[in-house]
Amino acid sequence: MAASRTTRTSSKPSSSALAEPVQRLRGVGADSAKLLDRLGIHTVEDLLWHLPSRYEDYSKVVPLGSLRPEAEQTVVATVGHIATIPGRRGPPRTEIELRDESGVPSRHKAVWFGNAFIRQRVQEGQTVRISGKPKWFGHGLSFTNPTLEPADREAVQTARIVPVYRLTEGLKEGYLRRWLLSLVTSQRLALVADPLPPDVRDRQGLPPIADALRQVHFPEAPQELFRARRRLAFDELFILQLATAQRRSRWVAEARARTLAVTDAELDAWIAELPFALTGAQRRSLAQIRGDLARAVPMSRLLEGDVGSGKTVVAALAMRIAFRCGMQSALMAPTELLADQHYATLEALFARGGPKVARLSSSTSAGERERILERLERGELDAVVGTHALIQEGVSFPRLALAVIDEQHRFGVEQRATLRQKGTYPHVLLTTATPIPQTLWQTLNRDLDVSVLDEMPAGRREIRTEVRTPEALPRAWPWVAERVRSGEQAFVVCPRIDPADEESDTLFEKSWQPSAVATFDELRSGALSGVRVGLVHGRMPQKERDAVMTRFRDRELDVLVATTVIEVGIDIPHATVMVVLGAERFGLAQLHQLRGRVGRRAEQKAFCVLVSPKTDSDRLRAMSERVEKDATERLLNGFELAERDLQIRGPGQFLGQEQSGIRDQLRLVDLTDIDPRLLDDAAREADKIVAVDPELERTEHRGLRQAVDALWERYAFV
Ligand code: ADP
Ligand code: MG
Repeated sequence: MAASRTTRTSSKPSSSALAEPVQRLRGVGADSAKLLDRLGIHTVEDLLWHLPSRYEDYSKVVPLGSLRPEAEQTVVATVGHIATIPGRRGPPRTEIELRDESGVPSRHKAVWFGNAFIRQRVQEGQTVRISGKPKWFGHGLSFTNPTLEPADREAVQTARIVPVYRLTEGLKEGYLRRWLLSLVTSQRLALVADPLPPDVRDRQGLPPIADALRQVHFPEAPQELFRARRRLAFDELFILQLATAQRRSRWVAEARARTLAVTDAELDAWIAELPFALTGAQRRSLAQIRGDLARAVPMSRLLEGDVGSGKTVVAALAMRIAFRCGMQSALMAPTELLADQHYATLEALFARGGPKVARLSSSTSAGERERILERLERGELDAVVGTHALIQEGVSFPRLALAVIDEQHRFGVEQRATLRQKGTYPHVLLTTATPIPQTLWQTLNRDLDVSVLDEMPAGRREIRTEVRTPEALPRAWPWVAERVRSGEQAFVVCPRIDPADEESDTLFEKSWQPSAVATFDELRSGALSGVRVGLVHGRMPQKERDAVMTRFRDRELDVLVATTVIEVGIDIPHATVMVVLGAERFGLAQLHQLRGRVGRRAEQKAFCVLVSPKTDSDRLRAMSERVEKDATERLLNGFELAERDLQIRGPGQFLGQEQSGIRDQLRLVDLTDIDPRLLDDAAREADKIVAVDPELERTEHRGLRQAVDALWERYAFV
């Protein structure tokens, strides 16, 4: 952990005096060097970049008479009587009577517990600065274990904003502070190369790197600290933005896609044929996609929209554009079942003109497969639907111009890379219902464009969401049975498959973890005995799983007990009830996806019951929380839930495997709380530079290039 922090986004050519071992610094001996080593600090430069994790503000210096309780402040006082008092049970304590500067005793005191050294450090009559937060004790105020410095010495730990550093056992805070103060006030600081071109710095009103480093360690004032932190955070965002801007510019320069253009009249006619009117958001997204397709630069676009917002039809229209231009398209889905569903949707949509679609799946026989591939090759088929295997198995389409990757959160980068390695440059449209919070997205994935379906098709009704404890279940099951009897269907989702599966945290917490297998058995023979109940989970062979899902879809089953295998995409129009057992064990995005599995038909009311002993968990609350927007009250949508999840669980869950290491690179930027304005500024400046010097070859960009290369080397993160 500590070691990974030694490479920075802002790493720059270190001049030799900065690359020297820390031991060269005055006051740092071999023992201290060993302790610093544990913090990943080996060189002088490492020490310089060991930034404070927080600060104590002791800048308020007050005379004894103005001391206030419960506030961080520094008092200047004369040491009066010093007493060591043996502890009744604990260690002895040392008490100093505080006198004002004229020597008049006060009722205020400073007390240290167990710190015998304090006696050797002060003498009666000496003037000192004491920093801390005093409390009432008897008739006066008393500091407990405060920081003390002689008043005739330069203030390091008192009378200023004092840095607080990450420490390791044995390393004294006071030492670290003193080393850093002498480092940031030494000549060496001027050796730190500033990676930012001066014009960027000027335009953004940012202080030079040396000033920023000095102020971030020992701020002269809160606003100086703010400026310094802003400067250093800017650098981090700027390098990230440069990396993605550079990547994008290479893509734009090198990759050539087929331009696909249709007339307004054609597009309007297809839209008019649809069984429903497009939402405004669908129209907007379609217009953006159409614009991309008409260019020779391959589209890299993410279509983001809540479950049920109607992404498929937008993708289908894009496929139709490709077909109209005489080209082929592919639609890839994460599961076989979903691929089946899309195939049926496309067949229906394209029934009156449109591409001829084939379905390729793992169950397609070898002969059939061969035939489909041949027909694709000869151009007798215009589109194909399947799982990701479509691109991975090296299926070749002579005229593939558009690839749609459905429900493709997080792995889009890899897919694009795969397509690229094949040397083909189709337009790529990714879709997802699990949005990544916007600032996080812009920080890490800016080379993808985004279209957002932030509007639901008309008539969609809200899914009534309730959070209940397991005690409510005996009353819930008869209610489920009743709904089933009136022709509706229900999902019951469990957090694990088998009762025998041990979860790692059972040692710590005896929690309720219903299993799908046990729940299935119990319901079948108990509360839902008259009802047709099915079971699916991830350990069943794919064929068997698909068979059960198909029976559920065809309404041969009423209740489906499942694990999260049902999470993605499949459309069961008559499902109106989603019961999630052990709901606190699922992430927010997952719960939201699960809830989206029901309520597909406007004429039927749908319900989601989240069952958990922890009904007050932040996540479950977010699921049933209501907001008022545009004069209507509603549940949080997927975007809002994603933002909430970022606050609750941090950025890790949103980062792909290659991206997660990026957190160690960022000292100042907190991915859960990125300042959108700073991000924007960094992006604009990065674009400006890449526009004139895409490979960062100019002398004045050398520092930047090194930083970007260092980033790529360490993290293939985008
Ligand atoms: P998702 O965005 O979750 O992939 P789908 O594309 O599966 O959603 O669409 C969900 C349902 O909504 C489908 O049955 C689809 O036919 C329907 N639908 C899509 N767009 C509209 C619309 N504009 N008006 C009414 N229904 C729509
Ligand atoms: Mg979908």
